[in-house]
Amino acid sequence: MLPLDPQADPGRRAWVACPKCADAQGCEPCEERRTCSTHWRYLLTNTGSLLHLQCPACTHVWVHESGFGATRSVWNRIVGALPRL
Ligand SMILES: [Zn+2]
Ligand SMILES: [Zn+2]
Repeated sequence: MLPLDPQADPGRRAWVACPKCADAQGCEPCEERRTCSTHWRYLLTNTGSLLHLQCPACTHVWVHESGFGATRSVWNRIVGALPRL
């Protein structure tokens, strides 16, 4: 297990499935691609559309190509401070 990155901040989260532990499998809000309060990843940094993420469950670190480019709405769907109720 890796230590949590010093940039890991629960105030900056992204809702992207973890490629390593698949902890969101079978979770209803995740499968509906809603912002789940249980399954989210630390957003360490982002460079353009590349997101550097860390999974709080297994501490896996990876880069996710969000492909949002100029479309702000996609960005807003996967990244946010807190799930909206
Ligand atoms: Zn994980
Ligand atoms: Zn979930």
